[in-house]
Amino acid sequence: MRVLVCDQIVGDKKDEDAMDGLTVAAAQQCVIEAMKKLGAEAVPLSQVLGRVLAEDIRANRDQPPYDVSAMDGFAIRSADVANASAVLEVIEDIKAGDMPRKMLGVGQCARIMTGAPVPQGADAVVRVEDTAVVDDAQVRIQVAVRPRNDIRDRGESMRNGEVVLNAGTEITPGVVGMLAMVKAAEVQVYRLPRVAILSTGDELEGLDDPFDANKIPDANSYALMAQVQALGITPDLLGIARDEPEHLKQMLQRGLQYDVLLVSGGTSVGVHDYVRPTLEALGVQMKFWRVTMKPGHPMAFGVAPLTWVFGLPGNPVSSMVCFEEFVSPALRCITGHSKLFRSTVTAKLARDVKHKHSRTEFVRVLLSKEGDVLVAMPTGDQGSGILRSMAMAEGLLVIPSSSKGIAAGEQVTVQLLSGTEFQAEAGGGY
Ligand code: AMP
Ligand code: MG
Repeated sequence: MRVLVCDQIVGDKKDEDAMDGLTVAAAQQCVIEAMKKLGAEAVPLSQVLGRVLAEDIRANRDQPPYDVSAMDGFAIRSADVANASAVLEVIEDIKAGDMPRKMLGVGQCARIMTGAPVPQGADAVVRVEDTAVVDDAQVRIQVAVRPRNDIRDRGESMRNGEVVLNAGTEITPGVVGMLAMVKAAEVQVYRLPRVAILSTGDELEGLDDPFDANKIPDANSYALMAQVQALGITPDLLGIARDEPEHLKQMLQRGLQYDVLLVSGGTSVGVHDYVRPTLEALGVQMKFWRVTMKPGHPMAFGVAPLTWVFGLPGNPVSSMVCFEEFVSPALRCITGHSKLFRSTVTAKLARDVKHKHSRTEFVRVLLSKEGDVLVAMPTGDQGSGILRSMAMAEGLLVIPSSSKGIAAGEQVTVQLLSGTEFQAEAGGGY
């Protein structure tokens, strides 16, 4: 049963502080339920890799257009070569692109190249390796073959008018090849969202600001930018909003012109955490603002008339992990993908990992091979501000909230942090 988890929480605000938040799975469900595919746009074939087809694609011809040879060799009449070592008269040379001019009679054959049309009268091809030249006009066929041997039938790859690719197909290099085969110079694909990224906090120093040892460099804008780019989308950086309601409001208003707004920091319950109330004042309907996860507890999500809004935690690792768990599947969903979640692998844990609290925990790990076994090794200090252990990580080991800790040698699920493979269900057993 699909539960409207979000509305229960929004409708019961007085309990909000008592609540530890939604589970990761419920929060993901809430986010995905709020998503809607963006419209379609026509894009030239050279730029569609990674996008999702928004239309069915039909073949506009039979391919191959006639019966063709699958090999370089000789087009023959199979009845003529029933006895091995038949010598046949070569009456024609047919290259790919040629049309045969002659019809084979008894005892005759035609030299034929791969992809060239099979002449009338022939019912099989013998590859050149199974023949021997007798002289300019004769060839010895050294094997007996069945009718249709090494002939590719007309329409074998596709039939004129049939649907060869369905709407919803993710465009891989093979799909690009098929699209070219049906001469689709432009295709309808789901459009990409306009994504805005806003960092918040008086303590932040922008990349171009002068060095100030007392400040904290704005890492989140760029880490989030890269995470969005890794999905094939180019975001706009709106900069840094001060912890001051009026300035924050102006910046958020700009962000609400976009399809997706990612705000980092200021979503917690500190006295200077104005993001949530300001978003609400701007008409954003908040769906949730806490998720029982570590890192990433103060994670908010809301919906505005034009915009899906994600309030990500300020701590750099938390912000990145929340992007992986909530924003990435959402961006894949609105761009038409059906596989929303990063691929998972099963690995053997290299050392004990403690787990005390009742939140789902994401541990940054490196992966290596020991023989056939994949081994996951935590990347070091797991503090939510320690970006180095995220920079080194290849995956996130998922520790379900109910776990009492995992011992070295046990099997664990690891969500990969890169790659083009995705899966339909979130892996990790939150
Ligand atoms: P907040 O959620 O605003 O309370 O921020 C939590 C922590 O994350 C604080 O230590 C912030 O300094 C840090 N932080 C917030 N935003 C960023 C950012 N854009 N880049 C790096 N660190 C940040
Ligand atoms: Mg802050």
